[in-house]
Amino acid sequence: MPEFKTSPGTRDILAPDSARWRSFQDVFARTVEAAGYSYIIPPMFEDLDVFLRLGEATEVVTKEMYDFHDKGGRHVALRPEQTASVCRAFVEHRPTTPWKVWYSGPNFRYEKPQQGRYRQFDQVGVEALGADDPLLDAEVIALAAKFYADLGLKKVHLSINTLGDEGDREKYSQKLAKYLRENEKSLTAESRATLERNPLRVLDSKREPDQKVIEAAPVIRDSISTTANEHFETVLQALDALNIEYEINNRLVRGLDYYRRTTFEFTSIALEAAHTAIGGGGRYDGLVEALGGPATPGIGFALGLDRTLLACDAEKVFGAPLTAVDVFVVDTVNGRHAHELCHLLRSNGFRADRAYDLRSMKAQMKSADRSGAKIALIIGSEEVEKSTIMLRPMGSGEQYSIARKDLLGEVRKALDIK
Ligand code: AMP
Repeated sequence: MPEFKTSPGTRDILAPDSARWRSFQDVFARTVEAAGYSYIIPPMFEDLDVFLRLGEATEVVTKEMYDFHDKGGRHVALRPEQTASVCRAFVEHRPTTPWKVWYSGPNFRYEKPQQGRYRQFDQVGVEALGADDPLLDAEVIALAAKFYADLGLKKVHLSINTLGDEGDREKYSQKLAKYLRENEKSLTAESRATLERNPLRVLDSKREPDQKVIEAAPVIRDSISTTANEHFETVLQALDALNIEYEINNRLVRGLDYYRRTTFEFTSIALEAAHTAIGGGGRYDGLVEALGGPATPGIGFALGLDRTLLACDAEKVFGAPLTAVDVFVVDTVNGRHAHELCHLLRSNGFRADRAYDLRSMKAQMKSADRSGAKIALIIGSEEVEKSTIMLRPMGSGEQYSIARKDLLGEVRKALDIK
């Protein structure tokens, strides 16, 4: 038989980590629903064209897409991110604006797998469509910052920039391209190739030889309109008003072609250089239109779940929650008592488990230990005869007999439930 293993870049998330994932999603839901965002569940695959609207110079689209023809001949793709799907849903359903939604779930990118970089990875995020208000930009950023704080993270750094409006970006892109061409000899081969496709992306390069050229490059803020500049100033003041710390990073351009005006990124300074980015977002005022809808501004962020949890590990916060049962029922008679008592306990709101296959008392007590239960209920032939149950608080070395009819009250007492 072949030995089956997960495909490269994918993983099984097992307990206790899986419980941590769920509680991560719960904390996120609580944070964003308290700010008026409602839950959206977009499909995991869409017509390829939906994602192509993210821009032909976007690497996620050009190089990393999981696309295929289905049996009906449709060219579809697994979603590489969820903003495009949310905008497609907006165009399809035309909800009233502002439309504030949040999502959570896996995305797929054909990347080179390494720690913190997977081919299937989870993101949580929000999108707010239909409002141009710079205070909304600040609200969205503040929400992400609050969520990180809710997880207990302290070493999160926020970088922010503006990309100006559509025309501004083009103007800047040309100015930058001219400068980069003049300095082409000093750039790496990779950056020279990027320059041909999309000069802005050269600014993302972390390669040493490119740094000198990038440092002296013209900055976008000198090329943007007064309105875009005012928008940015208001966002910064609104962040100041909430005491949110940030650093203005003139080189921050981020991946998607549709980003306009505000763009931001969160990095964890507790992580190693290769995967410090734990989330990011920005305005994408042209995307709804590109998907066939009316001109509609939009802003959002996506936070990487996998990587944020690595940051939690590094800061030793947000450990896995306890999922252990309250009670473990040990039945050495025939298993039926455990069967019925577990059902009774569960029906009354207790978390209960048991052993199967009529194992020995010793083996069942071992399972009780492993289960993390706070008490064991033990039933042997003597207990059956007298209609009693032995109640053992785990780890105490003590036990006492209770009447079977008093079970629920005694369990409540032993668990210290008022
Ligand atoms: P992006 O959608 O590229 O703006 O990424 C937003 C966040 O998602 C990043 O900051 C990462 O935390 C996370 N992320 C992106 N790609 C991956 C990946 N391949 N594996 C794990 N996390 C990822």
